[in-house]
Order: sequence, then structure tokens, then C-alpha cells
Amino acid sequence: MVNKKIMLVALAFFLTSKLASMEENMMKNDISKIKEMAFGENDAMNKLAELCLSIGHRLSGSKGLEEAVAWGRKSFEDEGIESFLQEVMVPHWERNEESLFLVQPYLKKMSFLSFGGSVATLNNEGKVEPIVADVVVVNNVEELSPEVAGKIVLFNIPMPENSLEGYGAVSKFRYSGAIEAAKHGAVGALLRSITINSLNTPHTGGMGYSNEYKKIPYGAVTIEDAMAMAKMQEMNIPIRVQMKLSAKTYPDALSHNVIGEIKGSKYPDEVVIVSGHLDAWDVGHGAFDDGAGVVHAMETLSIIKRLGLKPKRTIRAILWTNEENGARGGTEYSKEYGANTFAAIESDLGAEKPNGWVAEGNNAQKEMLESILAGTGLDLIGEGSGVDIGPMREHGVLLIGLRNIGVRYFDYHHAPSDTLDKIDENEFKEGLAHIAALTWSLANVETPGS
Ligand SMILES: [Zn+2]
Repeated sequence: MVNKKIMLVALAFFLTSKLASMEENMMKNDISKIKEMAFGENDAMNKLAELCLSIGHRLSGSKGLEEAVAWGRKSFEDEGIESFLQEVMVPHWERNEESLFLVQPYLKKMSFLSFGGSVATLNNEGKVEPIVADVVVVNNVEELSPEVAGKIVLFNIPMPENSLEGYGAVSKFRYSGAIEAAKHGAVGALLRSITINSLNTPHTGGMGYSNEYKKIPYGAVTIEDAMAMAKMQEMNIPIRVQMKLSAKTYPDALSHNVIGEIKGSKYPDEVVIVSGHLDAWDVGHGAFDDGAGVVHAMETLSIIKRLGLKPKRTIRAILWTNEENGARGGTEYSKEYGANTFAAIESDLGAEKPNGWVAEGNNAQKEMLESILAGTGLDLIGEGSGVDIGPMREHGVLLIGLRNIGVRYFDYHHAPSDTLDKIDENEFKEGLAHIAALTWSLANVETPGS
């Protein structure tokens, strides 16, 4: 009797482990098919070229962004992937005509980009009129003094070499520079472009104002011009510029998150998200930031669909709206749908060779992720996620960001040089292969709670 019981238990154990190993083999098989298609024949480069070259710029509130929304939706439909739009109200700022001239010690047109959200240079009647003022170069906020009153402040703060952490260290001045300069009575502000390498390229980005201080015009000069003006000041050469901005902020505009979906067969109410942001600054093609991430997400779903694979959990590819100057797309999604998200991946660091993953979550979630990543050649290398998926942390969602090597990323970031030709197809597809494989694993992993 006892022997029979032991035998039954042993048999059950044998069958369960046999089933588990069969499932593991199937999973390995699916992943190798996914990776093969990601590296091989697929539609990623075509999609990216269409997004970059057949639609105008994609800043929030623009016609181009809503054309990109329609393009994303149609692309899902053409491949037989179910999709829907989520309405999101987004900021609407337009750059319009702008210029910056050095007028003293000599006349020279400088490469210049105002920051998104900047006010125009307006006279007392509210008409656009250039500001002509002396420039004071400072190396940090502490150097600001009443001496800058009535002048234009240039923050000459170099980006540290370690680009990703270095970006955070300097981008805070893009947000606070106009506030800090206005506090001391400056009439305008300039920031040395946030990049390490430059071919006279200005880099734009989001900025902030405080209601406590006057809103003054603010934008980026190139590294070359920033360094030249710093040297002029050191040589006691007076510097004077003419700054003209005719930017305008309009009421919030209607935009959309584009959501493509393959329903889960076993846990349809648990959602795995793979995503990138559809909006981009109004200067380049937005190929690195973030056309590449958008296509990583779209093509992940397309590959799974083409291979006829059925995930256990629902997979959503999300093309976020308004990452760059508001993060409203991610915020609205989290409010409406965040609670049933199992895990979310964001690709928003261009198309270079992948270097690892960063994640946010509890210990159990991270252990699960590490066990999935074991042997994939791409490890968990730190804490972090993505701007658009970030709001879902309040729902306790496992958040994951792809980290590329980042050697060239900031050369093109928010600059006219962020164009399609910068994409290396092999590196771009390597990112796709890792993202698609991780998405598939997360959509099928059995957890103690499931
Ligand atoms: Zn981005």
C-alpha cells in the first residue's frame, strides 16, 4: 500500500517535471524562432524609414504627431493586429521663426534652438521683437549675481563624459536655467548644448518656468559658440547678442497613445507591455529618439503574430504620445490601465548595440527577471526604467528599460542630426531581438502566484 502511494507520487512528480521540461523546450524553441526573425528578414528598417521620412516632425500638438498616430494604427491593422487608441490631451508649443546673432565683437549668425515651452521675445505691446543684450557667461548657478540683471546669461556647463549619468547632471539646468537666471533679473538665458561631441549642432529639449519669476526666453547654443563666448569673457572682450524667438504656446491638443494587442490565452487580464514614444522634437527625424524604440515595440508584436505564436499573457505594444514635453501619454495610460500590468518594457535609448537592462520592482520580480535573462547574454545591470512606463510604479509593476552602449546617442539627442542615416541596422536589430525575446518570456513565465 505504502509502496503504491510512493509510486504514484513519484509518477506524478515525473509527469510534472516532464511537462515542465517540455514546456521549457517549447519556450526555448519559440525564442530561437523570434530571435532568428528579429535578426533576419523583417519589417523593422522599412517601418523606421516610413516613420522618419514620410511624416513631418512629431512634436506634441503637431499635425505630424497625429499622422504618426494614424500610421501606427494602420500598420497594426495591415498586419491583422488588433489595436485601439487612447485619447490624451497634450501640451502644444510651436517653435516658429527664431535666431541668435553675435553682434559684438563681430556679427555672426549662431546655430541656435530654443527649448520647448520657451516664451517668445516680446515687446511691451506683445509683438515679437528681438532682444539685444550683453552676455554673462557662468559655469554654474552659484556664479549668478545681481550683475546679470538686464543681461543674457549663458550657462557654460559641459556634459560629463559618462553620458547617461552625465545627461541627468546637466539636463536639470535645462529645466531650471531660465528660473535661476530670471531670479537675478536676467532678460534671457542660453545653455551650452547637452552633448559631448558637436559639429556646431544645437540640442533642444524641455524646460521649466516658475510662476514666482519672470518668464524669460531660453535656448541652446552649440558647444563651439559656448566655448568661444567663455573665452571672450576671459579675454575681457565684451559680448553682445541679438536673440529673437517667436514661439507660441497654444491650448492643450488632443493626441493619442497607439496600442496594438495580442490577447493572452491563459492569463488574458495580465498585460505585458513593450513600448517606445512616438513624439519627437521638431528638429531631426527622431530616428534615435525614439523612432527606434517605437519600431522595436511594433515589430516585436509583428514577429509574434507572423510566427503564429499564442502568448499566455496579453501583450501590448504601446506607442506613447508626449514623452518629450509632458509625459502625459504614460501618465494617462497608468491611470486607466496600469493596475493590470504584469510587466512593462521601454526602449528609449536609440538603436545602438544593447549593453544590458535596468529595472524597477520588488525582489521577487527582479529575481524572476534575472532567471529569465540568465544565458541571454544581456544582464540586469542596474536600477531604472523609462519615462513613459515610470508612472506605473505606483501599481507595483515590474518596469524594465533597455540600455544600449550609448556611445553615439547623445551626439544626436534632440538635435537636427538625429536622422535615419545614423541607424546601424545590425545594432538596431540586435536590440529588437533582445526586446522581442524578453517580451515573449515575460508573457509566458509561470510565477508562484500565477
Ligand atoms: Zn526619448
